[in-house]
Amino acid sequence: MIKKSERLTSGSVAVVGIPFDAFSSFMRGAAHAPAQIRAVMHAGACNLCSESGIDLADRPEFIDLGDIDIDGESKAIESIEAITSDLLNRDIRLISLGGDHAITYPLLKSYHKKFGRLEIVHLDAHPDLYESYDGNRFSHACPFARIMEEKLASRLVQAGIRTLNPHQKEQAERFGTEIITITQLKNASRMQLKGPLYLSIDLDVLDPAFAPGVSHHEPGGLTTRQLIDLIQRLQAPIVGADIVEYNPKRDLSDMTAMVAVKILKEVAARMLEIPPDPLCKGPRHEPGSDE
Ligand code: MN
Ligand code: MN
Repeated sequence: MIKKSERLTSGSVAVVGIPFDAFSSFMRGAAHAPAQIRAVMHAGACNLCSESGIDLADRPEFIDLGDIDIDGESKAIESIEAITSDLLNRDIRLISLGGDHAITYPLLKSYHKKFGRLEIVHLDAHPDLYESYDGNRFSHACPFARIMEEKLASRLVQAGIRTLNPHQKEQAERFGTEIITITQLKNASRMQLKGPLYLSIDLDVLDPAFAPGVSHHEPGGLTTRQLIDLIQRLQAPIVGADIVEYNPKRDLSDMTAMVAVKILKEVAARMLEIPPDPLCKGPRHEPGSDE
């Protein structure tokens, strides 16, 4: 099911592809993202060095596990949760490549089992807080409603948001999410995260001029430089991350695939630069949490 998992050791930072886009509301195609991101990453146009000088090609703890097999649409949520739970039990950190944003809910279920309630930084044009979308509670428009309902996070900071409608504003207030809209972005440096941190990056947080290969073009977004700066300034230990919603069918000359590669390198470097606090290992239950 997962190739190369025998090379995993405690402390590995592993890339895993989750080729699932059945819960996309507008356009399919994100299931082809992991393969295209890998193809561009290894095409010879770039090296695997982060801007801080970490060469991922020389780091044995950086491993690409390939893609997970998903057992049909009806079992997708359960199968993503089960497979990633098995991987996390090996004391590794995952960078999951979507797929659409629906994958983040089962990922957080498995992270919650391992780490207790996490801080989440969610970068997206959309808050993805719908109670239900087109009759589907697991739609890519809903993952953060499910995550907050099930109290999987101690904090949810949503940055880059520029599509907040009245329903989702109400949901954000109900769940107590911290929204940093695109016009408040300078406040992102004051997030004061403690970790353990889960980082969820929907590539449509970027302006479509920088990342045209996404299903939902939402103008007025971040530059690639702003997104990289935001990642590089994260001070909390990142225990997991996802990069979702790249849609190769919408891409122009693999421009967005290369952006995904760049973001993957910077996230992996940040994870290697700040190892998780050993106290983060095992389920963590904060005093006063109602689990
Ligand atoms: Mn999203
Ligand atoms: Mn989005």
